[in-house]
Amino acid sequence: MSQDNLEIKGCMTEYAGSPFFGYSRGVGDGRDENPRTPLLIQPDAKSGIMPSMSDDTQLANIINRARRGIAFTGAGISTESGLADFRSPGGVWSRNQPVMYDDFLRSRDARVRYWEMRQELYREMSDAQPNVGHEVIAKLERLNKLAAVITQNIDGLHQDAGSQNVIEIHGTARIVSCVHCGKEWTPVEIMARIDAGDAAPDCDACGHPLKSKTISFGQAMPEDLMAEAFSLASQADICLAIGSSLVVEPAASIPRIAKEHGATLVIINREPTPLDHLADLIIRDSIGQALQTAFEQLKNVTR
Ligand SMILES: [Zn+2]
Repeated sequence: MSQDNLEIKGCMTEYAGSPFFGYSRGVGDGRDENPRTPLLIQPDAKSGIMPSMSDDTQLANIINRARRGIAFTGAGISTESGLADFRSPGGVWSRNQPVMYDDFLRSRDARVRYWEMRQELYREMSDAQPNVGHEVIAKLERLNKLAAVITQNIDGLHQDAGSQNVIEIHGTARIVSCVHCGKEWTPVEIMARIDAGDAAPDCDACGHPLKSKTISFGQAMPEDLMAEAFSLASQADICLAIGSSLVVEPAASIPRIAKEHGATLVIINREPTPLDHLADLIIRDSIGQALQTAFEQLKNVTR
């Protein structure tokens, strides 16, 4: 961690009528005593953070300096596309006990229950479109600000928005595959089989169960993808942690690793997270609105 980073101190404040976490230099340098005199305040050389800026402008400044950033996204970005967070109250998993991976492999009854829940999830996902938050993230990749988006989401909306390097650490709901031989199908094909009465479809090549290509409860995380995600995080100059509660491990380690390796950490989430104390900037607004406003300001910030 650089000395510059050590000098940034977080403090909660009210600014321009909206609550946000503002930042000031270390105590004693006297440059942050009057937030209405921005000319007296120099942005931090590394992060671009300036205490008197609005949070959107701070975000624009941080993004502007990025050359190999990462976005780490969770369910919050997709709720703005109308997709329920299936972990949240009212979500699929709050109304149904999730099927553990071992039970899925062992029990046909468990697989029937799994596919009943999947049908509900696919219905919700089939109409969802990427929102402005997904679109700004894709644009930032094209501008070479972001090297990758690492996501906990299984909905494929980052790819729909045009993101190229998407690491789906919890897998994807857009593919169904055989747990044994790996043969793949589209969900539409499998839903048709279920509708035709095959309540727990098996592989037509080897006879083993088919499963959505997502990581279930009790199933190991994909080691190769996690290694790639950790590598990107350790090399990142900024990490935008967006719409994730940052409580599910090991995924939540990704922003922490980025920060530990010197990245500027921005958390955009409605609720507090366990990593807030590490963040250089915290934004509680709508994800799409915050990213879009910052993106529009990119052309105005000092290069
Ligand atoms: Zn098979």
